[in-house]
Amino acid sequence: MAEGLKMFHARHEGKNNKIIPIAEIGPEDRTELLCQYCNAKITWVDSYKRSGRTVLSYLRLRPNAEHAEKCKNRVKSAIENLVAHSQNVEYDKQIFDNNNAGFIFRMNVLIDATFDLSKSKKLYEEEKDPIEKERKRTSYRQIENKLADYFNSATGIAKIRAKIEESSDKKALSKMVKIQINKKEVSWNDFLYDEDRYPILFNKAEKIKHPVAIALTVKSASELILKSKKPFFTLKGEACHVDIEKNLKDYYSPVLNTQYENILDDLNPNDEIIIVGTLKTKTKTNHFMHITYKNLIFWIKNKKQFTKIDTCL
Ligand SMILES: [Zn+2]
Repeated sequence: MAEGLKMFHARHEGKNNKIIPIAEIGPEDRTELLCQYCNAKITWVDSYKRSGRTVLSYLRLRPNAEHAEKCKNRVKSAIENLVAHSQNVEYDKQIFDNNNAGFIFRMNVLIDATFDLSKSKKLYEEEKDPIEKERKRTSYRQIENKLADYFNSATGIAKIRAKIEESSDKKALSKMVKIQINKKEVSWNDFLYDEDRYPILFNKAEKIKHPVAIALTVKSASELILKSKKPFFTLKGEACHVDIEKNLKDYYSPVLNTQYENILDDLNPNDEIIIVGTLKTKTKTNHFMHITYKNLIFWIKNKKQFTKIDTCL
């Protein structure tokens, strides 16, 4: 099959080449769809369940169709586009490095900025002098914006990987983009986990010291939890179900928590999202139902830590 990412927008040949999102594509439109960026013919794939999680409907190339060489729905162009967007001359460190062989996603830049932010938050909160406090507040906001950009790049690269269907494309991506933490390589499999690999992620969570990315389908919108020392908002993703033995099941359930109001407000049931963050785990058994819930928990502090899969960048 030809190279290309999963798509969520199309141009409609019969409707003046209007670009339409997948939610507005009716059954009668499905034979007349073209790639949003080039003239490749594309087709509809129905939503389906995979390991208990809903994979949304999407669009893919028709058999024998091919994207134009520079089309943004090709893996190479999508990566180049993201890297170009991620460069900011005002930043002392760039999250993507370009060497002769390809790009390096420098995860330590993300980790360092996360650390810098909590340090500068503390300095700002503890400052008593009003003028100094204002200066420290500005510095804190600057680091917060920079970190948001870094997260945007991290979720962006994970999203490109999550939109790939073909193994040849997966190979091309891992050749083109290497992930590094202080010059040590991290494999793509150790960075991005889809629902099939929630159990693997859960089992090695304690050993993982760096941020990871997961794909998640929202099960229920966020709700406020008041019965904790500090109230917080929580959102649940669809679980990956694993039968252990007869009448005994493990549910690997992704959870997003945050103490920041409004941060999860745009997420609704059936949204498919990619999250980048530090993982925590928790186990809870429901003896009556014979289910063990193995929660994969991400505490979200920044809105750019997640992105919907059906958006472009
Ligand atoms: Zn195209």
